[in-house]
Formats: sequence, C-alpha cells, structure tokens
Amino acid sequence: MSCLFCKIVAGEIPAKRVHEDDELVAFEDIKPEAPVHILVIPKKHIATLNDVTASDAHVVGTMMRRAALIAKERGVSDSGYRTVMNCNADAGQTVFHIHLHLL
Ligand code: 5GP
Ligand code: ZN
Repeated sequence: MSCLFCKIVAGEIPAKRVHEDDELVAFEDIKPEAPVHILVIPKKHIATLNDVTASDAHVVGTMMRRAALIAKERGVSDSGYRTVMNCNADAGQTVFHIHLHLL
C-alpha cells in the first residue's frame, strides 16, 4: 500500500485523530494553514473527486456532515469556516486519496 492516507487509516503513520467511525477518519493537518485545519477522509481509497462513483455518494455526504460537526466542536460553526476538496494537479492536490479540508 503506497498511499499516505491509507497508511494513516491503517495506523501505520501517526496522525492526531479527532474522529473515527466505520467510514471515515478525521485528523489534524500536519501543516495547518488556519487556526483550525482538519482533514476528513474516507477509509476507502478513492484517488480524486473524479473517481467518486454513485455508490460513494453516501460517504462523501458523510464527510461534509462530519466537517460541520467538527466545526461545531471547535467553536467555529457560527463564526465561519471553509470546506475544500482539491482535485488534481492544477488545483493543488498533492495526496491522491480524497480529503475534505476543514479550515
Ligand atoms: P492537498 O494539497 O492534497 O489538497 O492536501 C494535502 C494535505 O495533506 C496538505 O494540507 C498537507 O499539509 C497534508 N498532509 C500531507 N502529509 C501529511 C501527513 O503525513 N500527515 C498529516 N496529518 N497531514 C499531511
Ligand atoms: Zn488511499
């Protein structure tokens, strides 16, 4: 397995986890670009948003909902936050396992 985020899912690379369930892991970004910078990822390896299939729609929706719940826990849901998913090189995607940035 060569994917960095699959290794984080498997616990082979440490990460500061803030949430885990059957479908998702959420953890602190190693190089935060905002006071809150968390990545929400599916446990299933999906390389880019282009690779999301109809059967993945549930987990992608769950990622959005989890980001909102973590934003609430961090006290930024009223003040405001962004969710970003970069797709491919021109958008700056560097890890090819989909991840939702919560900033
Ligand atoms: P992208 O540029 O692909 O949208 O975002 C990748 C993100 O993953 C970056 O914000 C980067 O800081 C983060 N990242 C890269 N490697 C690691 C790592 O080993 N651990 C954690 N926690 N975050 C990482
Ligand atoms: Zn992966």
